[in-house]
Amino acid sequence: MSSLPHNLHDRVSISVEILRLAATADAPVVFANSLGAEDIVLTDLIYRHASQIDDFMLDTGRLPAETYELLEKVRAHYGRAPRIYCPDTEALENFANEFGTNAFYDSVELRKRCCAIRKIEPLRRALHGYKSWVTGLRREQSVTRQGLDVREWDESNGLFKFNPLADWSEAEIWGYIRSRRLPYNTLHDRHFPSIGCAPCTRAIAQGEDIRAGRWWWELPESKECGLHRYADGSASA
Ligand code: SF4
Repeated sequence: MSSLPHNLHDRVSISVEILRLAATADAPVVFANSLGAEDIVLTDLIYRHASQIDDFMLDTGRLPAETYELLEKVRAHYGRAPRIYCPDTEALENFANEFGTNAFYDSVELRKRCCAIRKIEPLRRALHGYKSWVTGLRREQSVTRQGLDVREWDESNGLFKFNPLADWSEAEIWGYIRSRRLPYNTLHDRHFPSIGCAPCTRAIAQGEDIRAGRWWWELPESKECGLHRYADGSASA
């Protein structure tokens, strides 16, 4: 860690401690790896310091080409990559045949049904058999994430959730990525701070909220896909 800026040493030490605690006290544990900027930091910390933690990625089938390219860069960089989970084929075929392949633009209800098929059901399968999971959520990311704990009970999925980067700032995330020269999604260089499925993510303008590019055609209060639920009933991806 000698190449790290001084201010990141403590952050890294605490996050590694949290990961090791999860791997001993609440094992088996799995990391939900989206390959977003935060998750690239966690990938590096887990693969190097807590490699007994498994990781998986939800391949919705609609991810940007840049995300698939990054997946292969990660595999080449570490000789390890997240286990891939895909949507149930029959559910996807039925949905596409009944409502169309881009039905998510037609209504919030159809958008949520698409997220349920492509993300929520595969997430349930990916988490099955684990006692806890790890995410790259940060308090700073949105209002609904400000009450985030480092370790919390995830009622909707029935297991503990660890958020080792809860206290990190965006500048610290990028400080770590740059100083360690880690592979990252090139869409971040084109003003995509938050990256999801290609048809549901756009670049943001200067001054816009960092999640403004997700489901941009919807009202802010409906922007959720249910991967992460909070005590106030809100959810997000
Ligand atoms: S983000 Fe868009 S394409 Fe991806 S699962 Fe949700 S609605 Fe479907």
